[in-house]
Amino acid sequence: MNKIQKYEKVMINLYWVFIVLLFSALFFKQELYTNANVYFSKKNYLTVFIVSIVVLNIVKILFVNNINLYSDKAFDVFRSMEVFLTSVFLLPFSDGIEYLSLVLPLFFISIRKGKKLTYLLLGFSAVIKIANIFVLYGIQEPFDASKVVFSLFRIFCIYILLLCIFSISAKIYSENLKNEQENDRLIDELGEKYEQLASAKDEIKNQYETLKETNFKLEDTNKRLTSSIAEFYTLQQVSEAIGSILDINELLNFVNDVIIGVMGVNFSSILLFDQKKNRLKVQFTNITNKEELAILADNVNCELLLDILQNEKPLIENMVDPDKYDFIQTRQIGSFMCVPLSLKSRKFGLTLIEHRNNNTFNTENLRLLTTLGKQVSMAIENAELYANLQEMATVDGLTGVYNRVYFHEKFEAEFKMAEEKGYNLSLVILDIDFFKIFNDTYGHLFGDVVLKEVAQTVKNNLRGTDTIARFGGEEFVLILPRTSIQQAHEKVEFLRTKIAGNVIKDNLISASVTASFGIACYPETSSNQVGLIRDADNALYKAKENGRNCIMISQKIG
Ligand code: GH3
Ligand code: MG
Ligand code: MG
Repeated sequence: MNKIQKYEKVMINLYWVFIVLLFSALFFKQELYTNANVYFSKKNYLTVFIVSIVVLNIVKILFVNNINLYSDKAFDVFRSMEVFLTSVFLLPFSDGIEYLSLVLPLFFISIRKGKKLTYLLLGFSAVIKIANIFVLYGIQEPFDASKVVFSLFRIFCIYILLLCIFSISAKIYSENLKNEQENDRLIDELGEKYEQLASAKDEIKNQYETLKETNFKLEDTNKRLTSSIAEFYTLQQVSEAIGSILDINELLNFVNDVIIGVMGVNFSSILLFDQKKNRLKVQFTNITNKEELAILADNVNCELLLDILQNEKPLIENMVDPDKYDFIQTRQIGSFMCVPLSLKSRKFGLTLIEHRNNNTFNTENLRLLTTLGKQVSMAIENAELYANLQEMATVDGLTGVYNRVYFHEKFEAEFKMAEEKGYNLSLVILDIDFFKIFNDTYGHLFGDVVLKEVAQTVKNNLRGTDTIARFGGEEFVLILPRTSIQQAHEKVEFLRTKIAGNVIKDNLISASVTASFGIACYPETSSNQVGLIRDADNALYKAKENGRNCIMISQKIG
């Protein structure tokens, strides 16, 4: 409709200019208002019409263009006025051409307003025209009925034609109206859909933002998870190593390698703390340069590292000043991290990792190294406990020499070796003399001191390859590999005099004991393992019989 309105505005204005000019021309040609003089002068009719049309159009142009209110009501008023003026001032006074002035206004009315107003205005103009016929012919003398009928028939035909034209245009109007309503409905629907789409878009945007945020979080979690997995894998590797590598030195070496691999450091060293000496010692390191290694070994007992150990406070130094730290001299280290190896009960040492670049270590690295440190500390503690247990199982608690169980193991191994390699193996059994009386005289506690003293005296005078074990209460047995009966005798004689000459003191008591010895030797006196013990025992028995504090040698074979 808007397009039609646009054309309508221009067309109708031009149209009225055309109509005014046309009727003025007709007026001057005397073809118009031939009968008008009955009521008015012809001039007056035309003047009123032209003035009315001009005023109406001026008002319309101003109204429509300035106020821009081409509303329904304004339209109704202007178009109706046009039809009214035409009907009143043109229709009665011309014959034929006047209908032309009705066409365009009614066409626009029909196309814009439909049938109702069109038919009303068309009817109005018809009534004026018909009334005019009757008035016109009524005053004419004589009254010509045939003329009236002819005129009425002509009017009828013309109005039927006009009715047809405007019905078609009204039809167009109703189609348009329908389309317009449909359009409005579609626009409404579209608007609704647009709103739905807009809110869906907002929703999607929100969800996208949430997704983005979730994605960030996921990425972060993933990163942490990946590093946790790597960490977990490393710890698992070390755990497995702790379970499978029994030798603590081998284990520490392995852990040192793992740290170098996982942390990507240039140097890694494990420093163990010797409690007796109160000193740190480089146990493992991948530093191969002898000079650099010596510098590290000479400077590990510095205040800084000992403080880390004592206070159990790890240290990260990401901007190393080489003048400040003696232990890294000449190695061009940019960053280092030092973590204590400790458990609640013990301080075992330190792990020191170093990198040539600055700003290498962060708290994540520290956490991993601390966890590794705890594992390593536990492994060290376990190894120590295991060694203690081993010792407890093989060593006699009172005297500190091997026990009988260990003796049998050792003796079997030594005998096999002597047999295989074909060398002498001497076995000595010694028994303290009158020890029952000694105990009764000085008490059991002093007796224990004496037992310990005798065992240590013997132990201290044996070679590294010899073994002493407690055989029974106050009996000891010595395994002397690669020792002939003669050499054994000499050695035992030395021990006998040493024991006898040893005055043992404990508080107020001081006393000494003697011991009797029986010696047997493979293959000189005994041919097998059992025989060797039996023969030495028999020899001891003989020594007791012989008055004690003496040595008896088993008889040679053959
Ligand atoms: P003999 O010269 O014939 O060997 O006389 P003995 O008294 O040494 O011999 P006997 O076998 O009769 O006595 C061994 C004594 O050793 C008995 C026991 O009181 C003592 N004894 C054994 N084990 C220990 C110990 O662990 N501590 C102490 N104090 N005495 C022990
Ligand atoms: Mg005895
Ligand atoms: Mg005895």
